[in-house]
Amino acid sequence: MIGLPRKGNSKEDTLNEMKALRDKDANWKDGKTWSLVFFAGNEIVELLQDAYGLFFSENGLNPTAFPSLRKFETEVVSMTAHLLGGDEKVSGNMTSGGTESILMAVKTAREWAKENMPKVKEPEILLPTTAHPAFDKAAHYFSLKAVHVPVKEDFRADVAAMKAAINENTILMVGSAPSYPHGVVDSISELASIAKERNILFHVDACVGGFMLPFVRELGYDIPAFDFQVPGVTSLSVDLHKYAYAAKGASVVLYQNSALRKHQFFVYTDWPGGIYASPTMVGTRPGGAIAAAWSIMNYLGHEGYLEIARRVMDTTDKLKKGINSIEGIEVLGQPDMSILAIGSQKDDIYIVADAMTKRGWHPDRQQFPPSMHLTVTAAHSGEGVVDAFLKDLEEAVEEAGKAKWDKISSSVAVSVAKGAAKVLPKKVMSQVTQLSSPAPVGGKMPEKTAAMYGLIGSLPNRGDVEDVILNFLDKIYSVEKKES
Ligand SMILES: *Cc1c(COP(=O)(O)O)cnc(C)c1O
Repeated sequence: MIGLPRKGNSKEDTLNEMKALRDKDANWKDGKTWSLVFFAGNEIVELLQDAYGLFFSENGLNPTAFPSLRKFETEVVSMTAHLLGGDEKVSGNMTSGGTESILMAVKTAREWAKENMPKVKEPEILLPTTAHPAFDKAAHYFSLKAVHVPVKEDFRADVAAMKAAINENTILMVGSAPSYPHGVVDSISELASIAKERNILFHVDACVGGFMLPFVRELGYDIPAFDFQVPGVTSLSVDLHKYAYAAKGASVVLYQNSALRKHQFFVYTDWPGGIYASPTMVGTRPGGAIAAAWSIMNYLGHEGYLEIARRVMDTTDKLKKGINSIEGIEVLGQPDMSILAIGSQKDDIYIVADAMTKRGWHPDRQQFPPSMHLTVTAAHSGEGVVDAFLKDLEEAVEEAGKAKWDKISSSVAVSVAKGAAKVLPKKVMSQVTQLSSPAPVGGKMPEKTAAMYGLIGSLPNRGDVEDVILNFLDKIYSVEKKES
């Protein structure tokens, strides 16, 4: 445990300590990270910081006190709805991110169903397995049942299986545009028409694609219909802090009409502190995030976004070609925009990922099937980034082929875990934690994760994996002991 410093430190010392810590973080400016940060240049960051700073103290909780924020939010929502095929009736709100947008859409569906499907006592939401876990979080928070339907070989939602999985308790169906794991757009038209036929709601998760797909289509790529132009789409989420390059804490949730949106709101009228009304999950809302989103949308405009999308797609095309020309690995499926997964037939892709980490890159690891994940952004269109990445990737694949010992030890560990997990899950799991310890050592993730992912992927009991990860969360959110 640590306490407050008895005497405060100087501004300079405080900031210097923070800067030194930041220097050890992932290097996203040079395109080394492939998720988490969407960077479109210093000029844009400066604008965002200025705009955020102007409204740094303002609180979006009460729009009547800050008409400025009200204007920003309603215009951001309107511009977003316009971009995504919405008409005058489409209404929505800004939220703190994709997760909150999705939480709101699911909560809205639950309330809507209470009114419109009164017979439903145990509501279910229907998801392709590739849908974002925010839907599972929503089901977890709001006591709904999440039903997962396996996707097809091309990683897109299986329309027939989704249809077959609808039952009298289904209140909401979901499709992604695109899905995060493999970057493919689900057949929104087909799914939404089924939902419409069955009189249930349909949500499009365009969190990552909403500010890319319209521009990618305009550039001439073949992008299937996915937005409010599609009959049956009743709500849609789109993150501004992703491909709209806004400051973090900015997303939009949209509804077909304001009658549906009303189910999102929360009002409590009996509080001694006054009548309390709040549109979304949170109470206090940072004015800065709302203001920064408005500033970037007005600064870049349609043409600005189109230009960035062009750079991102050129970069993606080059990456895809390069990856597919390396023997032993390939881009999985046919990604529709700038998100892709790299899989391997021969080598353990987790070993390749570890070899990339060793070379200073931060690719993300995925499972079912094992793959490496890339979100391509403006930061990767920088001079030499793709060439350096592809060169290192080729070396990493070669190294993985030679990594006999790693391979053997991880596959032995996997089979040991497979055999033992059935009999002694607790004991084995504690070994797994030790062996592959994802616990932060001095705040750093271990460089080698192949063994950990190999083990985790092979464990038959997902509950055990959940235990390991719960312990990991507990550890990572505990304060580190001060070095004395
Ligand atoms: C990022 C993402 C989310 C969640 O958004 P957060 O801003 O991280 O809460 C949901 N769906 C998809 C497809 C995403 O890519």
